[in-house]
Amino acid sequence: MATRRLYYDDSSARDFTAEVVSCEPTTHESNVAWEVVLDATALYPTSGGQPHDLGKLGDANVLDVRDAGEEIVHIVDREVALGTVHGCVDWTRRFDHMQQHTGQHLLSAMFQERFGRPTVSFHLGSEISTIDLRGTEPSEAILEGAERAANQVIFDDRPVNVRYGTAEQFAELGVRKEVDRQGILRAIEIEAADLQPCGGTHLKRTAQIGMMLVRRCTKIRQDWRVEFVCGSRAERIARKDFLLLRRAAEQLGCATDEVADSAGRVVSDRDGRFKEYRGVLQRLAEAEATLALQAIPVGPDGLRVVARAFQEDAQAEYLGHFASQLAKSDKTIALLSRTPCGHLFFAQHPSAGQDMNALLRQVLERLGGKGGGTRDFARGRLKEAAKAETALALGREVLSARAR
Ligand SMILES: [Zn+2]
Repeated sequence: MATRRLYYDDSSARDFTAEVVSCEPTTHESNVAWEVVLDATALYPTSGGQPHDLGKLGDANVLDVRDAGEEIVHIVDREVALGTVHGCVDWTRRFDHMQQHTGQHLLSAMFQERFGRPTVSFHLGSEISTIDLRGTEPSEAILEGAERAANQVIFDDRPVNVRYGTAEQFAELGVRKEVDRQGILRAIEIEAADLQPCGGTHLKRTAQIGMMLVRRCTKIRQDWRVEFVCGSRAERIARKDFLLLRRAAEQLGCATDEVADSAGRVVSDRDGRFKEYRGVLQRLAEAEATLALQAIPVGPDGLRVVARAFQEDAQAEYLGHFASQLAKSDKTIALLSRTPCGHLFFAQHPSAGQDMNALLRQVLERLGGKGGGTRDFARGRLKEAAKAETALALGREVLSARAR
């Protein structure tokens, strides 16, 4: 038996009385639940981009509402007796959905009429809603233009009407998106702005949308996904954005309208200092390498091995500079580690004639870890950082065994 959809003609019905046609046990998210079919319902099932309603059937809580062809199936958390039942709709949730859905029709109409961008799909999310537009990328001016035009229709407080007719009749009236379905169709008309076939629930007047805010636009395959919010969501998101802006201004110590310029200065300042810092690191590595080379002469095996375990005070980047500097000297090999993280750097002057990659792999094989490199420069990381000094001793041992 077909369920009468009370919301088709009256989307503002919050309470209704209906006959329970059937109530069968089922499961919902692995909990025991019941499937209830009524002769009529004001509860909207998930369809056409709009999520289902919540509410009550008698004492039972509605967990889900599904469109099953002619029937609407209500998933509830307890058994509902056959006979008459009183139902009600969770109005806060429904009104929010109507604000977003009527807002979507209006926004899509503005994008299409004024900027020639047809909507190919719509999604009403729990935080943000989206429409996908076809065509070239909408500029900032187009996004703002469509938002402003939609808000003007909201301020005009135009009626939103439900119309019935055939696809041909709607086509003659200049429907936004033509359909080729048979029989009598339902369409939503925003007076002097839009006519669009739709089975969803809508507001009675455009002023109830409250406010339209268009947000990000990103590329999704061949289309452009525009995020928007209406009504209470627009109010919440605008408040949240303002608080974020104020926090950023406090952090930067400036006025809210100076945040972008101030952040720009902070970033370029940081980049400049970072460049300076890298230069200083480089020079420090040169100076430390000179001292190290003076302290360690070339040994009887013809090699000079500088082994050093660094602690927290040196960055891994610095070890790289230091190793490169040492390896600029003839017959020199650098074996470096950094204890807190287990980084290893093995480097040599080509005249030392060893293979740093092979040496590193041999050490990592014994102690555990990952890494690699070239014959003259290899870097890796031990699985256990505490073995950093053992790794250096092992590297030395392998080198002297080779030299013998
Ligand atoms: Zn719709």
